[in-house]
Amino acid sequence: MKVVLQNLTKKFPGRDRKSGEVVAVNDFCFEIPDGKLIGLLGPSGCGKSTALNLISGLLKPTSGRIFFGDDDVTDLPPELRGVGLVFQNYALYPHLTVRENIRFPLENLKGADRPSKEEMERRVQEAAKLVQIDKLLERKPGEMSGGQQQRVAIARAVVKMPRVLLLDEPLSNLDARLRLQTREEIRRIQRETGITTVFVTHDQEEAMSISDLIVVMKDGVIQQIDRPQSVYDDPANLFVAKFLGTPPIDVFEADVKGGRLYIGDSAVLDVPGIADRPVWAGIRPEGFVLDENGPLECGLVGVEVMGRDSTVIATHPAFDGVNIRSIIPAESARSVTGNRVRFSVKPFKAHIFGRDDELRLRFEVK
Ligand code: ADP
Ligand code: MG
Repeated sequence: MKVVLQNLTKKFPGRDRKSGEVVAVNDFCFEIPDGKLIGLLGPSGCGKSTALNLISGLLKPTSGRIFFGDDDVTDLPPELRGVGLVFQNYALYPHLTVRENIRFPLENLKGADRPSKEEMERRVQEAAKLVQIDKLLERKPGEMSGGQQQRVAIARAVVKMPRVLLLDEPLSNLDARLRLQTREEIRRIQRETGITTVFVTHDQEEAMSISDLIVVMKDGVIQQIDRPQSVYDDPANLFVAKFLGTPPIDVFEADVKGGRLYIGDSAVLDVPGIADRPVWAGIRPEGFVLDENGPLECGLVGVEVMGRDSTVIATHPAFDGVNIRSIIPAESARSVTGNRVRFSVKPFKAHIFGRDDELRLRFEVK
């Protein structure tokens, strides 16, 4: 089921007369293709949950419309939209067994929509198998781990075969290992069922690993919609470049003069096509190359060994932060000694942004 958001806006009134209204979702226009998993990504408070709750119908938009396929669902209550919801806190009924929890949404169906007892049991089994808890149907939620409880919540959300599955930070309460495992599970379940899915997270790595498309948000405004690799390789602005990637992109105060990028007095890169102006130069950690004749001279702080790679930690007066972190193959990092280190820069790992508007300035990579 394709989902279309058309000029969707949600404003909340300020808490008192002094604080103005909050535009939590500002003029969202995009289409979620049928059968895809889309990640809503952004820092806390940027409007992710609000956007999700507008799609679910738990919130009414201030303006704009929402379509599921060709149906305008803007004025439909949540229970008539055919959505499955999973939240961060699993919100299972503690006094019901796993079977009863998963069956609950089916019991709530009315009239012709309500399946027979046998059909309900079949669908509960199917949903439980899908999330691999079919051996635990007699347990109560209190007798299960967090990861298992979250699987029950997912089974309960998919048992009605929703038109759209909505997940709001569903992995945040799980420990690191379970988080990895469960996100792979969610991906598998989404592929197997083909249910159009919206996955909300503030964790860029999670969004990158699970999504077909990522919507990057900031202060209620969409910054970029793209495939995960494109958001990383081809960021629309400085915010997106900084939000994706660990360790984060290294940002320098720089200038373009005569088609060359200057950090301090050194021309570190040819950037044909960008007019002379002050800029921000973002260099991905893997974009630094140790080079004794390289144009970018930095103070050496130290080398952190990580196994396959090493992190060379350095300083530069034009660096917009404390320490530059570059990722260098471990074998070449062994040669780094003394108190200075020189780099050259891989052109396709460098992104240039206007100093004021922070928008991306593209140059031709030769
Ligand atoms: P996220 O899920 O990305 O952390 P939210 O969608 O929860 O962000 O919130 C977006 C903004 O809207 C925040 O500034 C938040 O304080 C505000 N907000 C959310 N819900 C309400 C509400 N019911 N009343 C007033 N302001 C709200
Ligand atoms: Mg939220």
